[in-house]
Amino acid sequence: MTIDTEKSYGVYIHIPFCKAKCKYCAFVSTPDFSLQKTYVDTLIKEINDSEFKGCVVDTIYIGGGTPSCLFRGGLADIQTAVKNNFCVTDNAEITVECNPESVSTDFICECKDVGVNRISMGLQSSCDKVLRAIGRVHTYADYLNAVELLAHSFDNISSDIILGLPEQTSDVVIDSVTTVARHCSHVSVYALTVEQGTPLYKSGYMPSDDGIADMYDLAYGKLHDLDFCRYEVSNFALRGRESRHNKKYWECKPYIGFGVAAHGYDGARTRFMHGDNLAEYIASPRAESCNLTDKDLYNEYVMLRLRTEKGIIVDDFYKRFGYDFCKRNAEILHSLKSENLIVCENGFVKISPDKMFVMNSIIEQLMLD
Ligand code: SF4
Repeated sequence: MTIDTEKSYGVYIHIPFCKAKCKYCAFVSTPDFSLQKTYVDTLIKEINDSEFKGCVVDTIYIGGGTPSCLFRGGLADIQTAVKNNFCVTDNAEITVECNPESVSTDFICECKDVGVNRISMGLQSSCDKVLRAIGRVHTYADYLNAVELLAHSFDNISSDIILGLPEQTSDVVIDSVTTVARHCSHVSVYALTVEQGTPLYKSGYMPSDDGIADMYDLAYGKLHDLDFCRYEVSNFALRGRESRHNKKYWECKPYIGFGVAAHGYDGARTRFMHGDNLAEYIASPRAESCNLTDKDLYNEYVMLRLRTEKGIIVDDFYKRFGYDFCKRNAEILHSLKSENLIVCENGFVKISPDKMFVMNSIIEQLMLD
């Protein structure tokens, strides 16, 4: 494989440990902390053996799971391995995810020592009744304590909120969004997906799509009033505080994934995937790769770019695919425009702002079968 020296890469590292499993969670995470040391050693081996060694890295994202519950010194060991193997730029964005119950002064000091400059914390809801219903192990007060502690050391903090949770009312959504906007410069607002096999699924709980769409409109309106710009359907930021790492995914830029269940993309035609079995990862940490077809690349590009506020940049599309997106889709774009579902102007094709949350059916019409 040839590394493209013209490109800057993102690095994603998955930490699959959490204090307890939330009732809606389908991510790869375990409360068995006895595996932490072996896991970090395996991660470091994988980073040391990476075929991308030597490439320029300008974003690092340590996610999970709950990286803040890793043993002290673990983040530093991982970060040292990344810095020893890649050319990490001086202004790299380095994000670490955390949850309120495991934010401590030790954790914050370790983050500062290894150059972390962005924090992403899960809140999900500002109502304790909702937090209990979904099995979160923290309270709203824990969140407030944690975010205030973090704010002494970081000016770039993001928090997550989920819509469609049990016991959640419109007032709770407004309160959650307002709280997060008061303490953070970035907010992610996700719709709950009730994944098969989770305790929430087994309980028979299923939120209505219309109910979630109404909550989304409320959250969007509140964040807009508070000067947060929506730059992707689920992501809002004060100007200049957009996540540089996550933008790489939506802009089809290259990133390298380390750890169980992590994915990567070389920015051209190859995707890399780890399986989601922790024991298998520890036994053999190498990612599988697969080649993407022209159709895969087109569909991924259209789907990811239309999630963003900017949408498809027609010139960029031409450079990647060698033909004109608007000409190829002239008929369907004409029909979508006439229904005010899409906006085509100044070299951009984007979903109409008030249709962003119901974009899937629009995007489907532009995908190749
Ligand atoms: S904190 Fe996140 S990753 Fe961990 S169990 Fe809860 S939802 Fe899953």
